[in-house]
Amino acid sequence: MSRASTPVIDPVELTRDLIRIPSVTPADEGAMDVLERHLTALGFHCRRLAFEGPGGEGVHARIENLYARRGTASPNLCFAGHTDVVPTGPSDQWSAQPFNAEVRDGLLYGRGAVDMKGGIAAWVAAVSQVLAEGEPKGSLSFLITGDEEGPALHGTKRVVETLAAEGEVIDACVVGEPSSSQHLGDMIKVGRRGSLNSWITVTGKQGHVAYPERAANPAPVIARLMSRLNDHVLDQGYEGFPPSNLEITTIDIGNPATNIIPAEAKARLNIRFNPRHTGDALIEWLNREAGAIQAETGLQITLDHLCSGEAFLTEPGAFVSAVQDAVEAELGRRPEASTTGGTSDARFIRALCPVLELGLVGQTMHQIDERVPTAELEALTAVYRRVIETVFERL
Ligand SMILES: [Zn+2]
Repeated sequence: MSRASTPVIDPVELTRDLIRIPSVTPADEGAMDVLERHLTALGFHCRRLAFEGPGGEGVHARIENLYARRGTASPNLCFAGHTDVVPTGPSDQWSAQPFNAEVRDGLLYGRGAVDMKGGIAAWVAAVSQVLAEGEPKGSLSFLITGDEEGPALHGTKRVVETLAAEGEVIDACVVGEPSSSQHLGDMIKVGRRGSLNSWITVTGKQGHVAYPERAANPAPVIARLMSRLNDHVLDQGYEGFPPSNLEITTIDIGNPATNIIPAEAKARLNIRFNPRHTGDALIEWLNREAGAIQAETGLQITLDHLCSGEAFLTEPGAFVSAVQDAVEAELGRRPEASTTGGTSDARFIRALCPVLELGLVGQTMHQIDERVPTAELEALTAVYRRVIETVFERL
């Protein structure tokens, strides 16, 4: 009897077990083992996908990832998340030790409580409840990485590439990031803006300010270029997204002398862009603008760019409304479908299937005294269970 064969998992205890493992990115410290043990007991086929290469600051990193699937039937509903956490900051400023998983006055304290060990534990617990009721109609899967809070080079991105190359079909994916704003379930994230950083250098020729004809001053050139870029209107917005925005984050010359024309001027900018743009198209535009100023002034302008994520939007449809309906049925609150906030691993998963983020209230994420009400972990488990049931009814 399947009813008796699978364990029912307590979301609070599993969250505590995970918090006690100090998996500060990119370290795993056994976090993936804990998950694998539980998922194996629930009948999942677990695959560890470890990837290595240069990580943050170019330091070699070896990242643990896990893809676990239960069943072969369609649809395949995936839950995605990360077991790595951000550093604690000064632990003496915490009112509870960050890896002790202390519960006080109904609040569970610890690094990763909301971002996002609590979310992972709630989905595992929800799955255990669903399985206790019988065999679900489709497959359930987990895509868990240990490289989300860092540079995210060897985590979800590479797992998605591997699964895509193998032809693995995922029909829909819920990412367990703390998407709720004020109250559990008040917000899901259905898209994110893209982000592009650019580094700009104008090279001139140093000289005496009294003899400008013997020098070439990069300062007015960079001022002209930056002002031109800043004045450009990228767009007026896109379905649920604000207008794309370019911010100049620094302009540096650092010339301490009053009588020297500097040799070099540097600047940096960041563009947060909606799905009207791609990173490549924006890079092309920036290079073109710089090329025009270079042609006008004769000073060499070089640019470096790094696009850390493309913009995406999961369009309204059966999956998004199934999730919204499930949350509303459970909590009496219909989540707003939002595209605000920073980037998440959903940007990689969108290559496979419709993806959205639904999780705890994000208020204390990355902070000193990160914490979650244990009642909210129980409530999220009930929400996730309802999401699984509703998605299997409708997809
Ligand atoms: Zn997170």
